Amino acid sequence: MDAEHASATRRPVAVSLGATVTASGATALPSTGAPPPARAGATAGVHGAAGATALPATGAPREGGLLDRFGRVATDLRVSVIDKCNLRCTYCMPADGMPWLPQTQLMSADEIRRIVRVAVHSLGAEELRITGGEPLVRKDLEHIIAGIRADNPDLPISMTTNAVGLDKRAHALKDAGLTRLNVSLDTLHPETFAELTRRPHLDKVLAGLQAARAAGLGPIKINAVLLAGVNDTEIVPLVEWAVSNGFEMRFIEDMPLDGDRSWSAQNVIPARDIRAAIEQAFALSADPRGRGAAPAERWEVRRPGETEVAGHVGIISSVTEPFCAACTRTRVTADGRIRSCLFSHEETDLLTALRDGADDEGLAQVWRDAMWAKPRAHGSDRVGLARADFVQPERTMSAIGG
Ligand code: SAM
Ligand code: SF4
Repeated sequence: MDAEHASATRRPVAVSLGATVTASGATALPSTGAPPPARAGATAGVHGAAGATALPATGAPREGGLLDRFGRVATDLRVSVIDKCNLRCTYCMPADGMPWLPQTQLMSADEIRRIVRVAVHSLGAEELRITGGEPLVRKDLEHIIAGIRADNPDLPISMTTNAVGLDKRAHALKDAGLTRLNVSLDTLHPETFAELTRRPHLDKVLAGLQAARAAGLGPIKINAVLLAGVNDTEIVPLVEWAVSNGFEMRFIEDMPLDGDRSWSAQNVIPARDIRAAIEQAFALSADPRGRGAAPAERWEVRRPGETEVAGHVGIISSVTEPFCAACTRTRVTADGRIRSCLFSHEETDLLTALRDGADDEGLAQVWRDAMWAKPRAHGSDRVGLARADFVQPERTMSAIGG
């Protein structure tokens, strides 16, 4: 979180298209607003998006879902419920943590419930991922999930968590309506875990995983960020361990979203090297289910000489093989701001509109306007995280919600 957000009080809603939101929720269209070129909910022209010419930043649809200027439709909602965390992963947070959001700026359980309801019922969101910071740090997490589940009986609700403390809450979370889990675990060595997360809690993560499985939360995916010289020798052991335990292993390229701002392209283990490392011990073949709009490229894993699929691996290659053209994600931060892209430099304040009394349609229009302006890729209309003019966004991964 940046200083601006730490000190922000209730500000006027800043809609990135130049439109403003009134207390009633009505959105004033910019006078230059061109007619919508396509209806939200229409088939996304995602495959052409990277090369497509941007439509003007004005002219968001007035109805339907979350269409952007490049023809993508966002149906995958990620909501951060808190910016705080109980670990300090070096690739994410500084050792001393961040200036946390004050309680009054955090969305309440009811506000999260309302925002998810608008996303699903008015804007066609098809799945929800709860994230943070660390979602388990919120004591009312079960209550948040139960409220969302009550409004959306069929919505897949997943959560990304470090699993510290999950052993005591897995059953309650399942009962509240949580569907599945992604657990972050970068190493199987206690010392490397303590070095990477700056906390000696590997045993707690493993206990959390065991409890999650016992509670029937599944499928469980394991997220590992690989760092050169730290845990890059663990690619095969992690795959072996995940496959043996029935988890899907997912490797994530390190992205420039860390609190220390010490990211370097030199430390990124590229997707092609990850595949090559796995192929030293397993046979990999493209998952026939394909990737769709999922961030991970998925692979089937077979043990040498065997025809049976032993498990699956996903590789999220945001740096070396970006998938922005197929992105279907829309994010809401723990203080209720819409981020159309992880790397955006702009946010749209949905929570102030809600607290000022906007009705559901007013909130939906704020969201359509925000997503219409979604950049082509990596926070700009140019692709590439390693390019010379790339500027790291002020908010870091934990403050956005990964
Ligand atoms: N605390 C939870 C956790 O770690 O699972 C949820 C929030 S965390 C920000 C969500 C995901 O972002 C985790 O899988 C984490 O590994 C990933 N992440 C954090 N910083 C990252 C970075 N700089 N590059 C790539 N992934 C990162
Ligand atoms: Fe916390 Fe997750 Fe960031 Fe690690 S990656 S510091 S667990 S928010």
